Amino acid sequence: IKRKEDMNIVIVGHVDHGKSTIIGRLLADTGSLPNGKLEEVKERCRRNSKPFEYAFLLDALKDEQAQGITIDSARCFFQTENREYIIIDAPGHIEFLKNMVTGASRAESALLVIDANEGIQENSKRHGYLLSMLGINQISVLVNKMDLVDYDEKVFQNIVKEYTGFLREINVEPDSFIPISGMIGDNITTKSENTPWYNGNTVINTLDNFQIAETSDDKPFRMPVQDVYKFTKDGDNRRIVAGTIETGKLSVGDEVVFYPSGKRSTVKSIEAFNRKTQNYVTAGYSTGFTLKEQIYITRGEMAGKVGVSNPKVATRIRVNLFWLGRSPMIKGNSYFLKIGNAKVKVEIEKIKRVIDASTLTNVNREQIDRNDVAECILKTQNPIAFDENKHIQNTSRFVIVDDYDISGGGTIEEALEDKQSKVRDQ
Ligand code: GDP
Repeated sequence: IKRKEDMNIVIVGHVDHGKSTIIGRLLADTGSLPNGKLEEVKERCRRNSKPFEYAFLLDALKDEQAQGITIDSARCFFQTENREYIIIDAPGHIEFLKNMVTGASRAESALLVIDANEGIQENSKRHGYLLSMLGINQISVLVNKMDLVDYDEKVFQNIVKEYTGFLREINVEPDSFIPISGMIGDNITTKSENTPWYNGNTVINTLDNFQIAETSDDKPFRMPVQDVYKFTKDGDNRRIVAGTIETGKLSVGDEVVFYPSGKRSTVKSIEAFNRKTQNYVTAGYSTGFTLKEQIYITRGEMAGKVGVSNPKVATRIRVNLFWLGRSPMIKGNSYFLKIGNAKVKVEIEKIKRVIDASTLTNVNREQIDRNDVAECILKTQNPIAFDENKHIQNTSRFVIVDDYDISGGGTIEEALEDKQSKVRDQ
């Protein structure tokens, strides 16, 4: 049997605009629910004399998953003829940011839901902004609850016009706008007779037309070091360097270099976690490798290869960040910045620009409030290794931790020189 290809998608939108309903629909209408699930949930509703909702399917699945093995993020799957879709659960901006930055689950495409009746909300815009900042550029906008506006084309077109205008300002070109009703099932898997004026694709067709993210094997090798384990083999003390490969490919015999330390060694063996040794390993895989020369490195460093373009190392960086903290981000306060597996103390050196993500207006503030987007210069206490966003997106993404909570995140746009503590030029 040919294995189906996978695609990670995220469904975002203002609360109550219909995300869970649409997910329930996608699962039910593609026949992806476990056997008997739909009937079971419908029956439960009947017994409790409450009307059935597609959103309940999602709750039922989550309950089931919660009772099973521990999973860090609940995942839902549905499939079409060629693909298996993994819906990344991102109930809020923070979870979304965290998933994207840590690589726990990265979205390749997005469905952005807007309630036709309520229209575009601030959050609809913030989500659009976040998607663009995180580099997700395959976006379809679902104008949901068309049943509540009598499938009026004008309502649909007004939303298309207004939201396209907004997206254009942040350089996002959505793939499509689709008039749907999650509740009724219009234009989800089959074209609806209720929208004869709509000639575009259904949601499912739109998804199937999205491109699978190109594999990052061709990019320079990057692996944030997650841990270094010690073990003894043939009487020798050895170390195994473990982590997940972000980009590129690693082979036995490759000369690797770790940043920020700049230490080098040669890959002696590659160990996969199924205990088979192999000669090479590619992006997306968790791996461990041993080195010929025993060098001392620690969690948080980033591995690259000698002779190919290497990550930047700096203590001053120009970033774009999205702030979601309860208290504002201010100059003079100390935060933690997490990138790859590194965690360092960080402060704002300069706020260059703050804008409100929903209105895109410049707000001249000396602090960054919740839901603001800012361009600023950050100064870290110790050097960090990373890539600039224009070069490799994955390793340019970071989150900011304020008082134990992830409170913001973004992308590093530029490595800057630090005149005070000159970092050794790599
Ligand atoms: P979420 O917060 O975005 O996940 O929204 P839900 O899926 O929970 O939906 C919120 C409410 O809107 C629920 O009461 C749904 O029944 C209702 N709803 C969702 N989609 C539609 C739709 O297409 N038409 C109508 N009339 N109601 C809908």
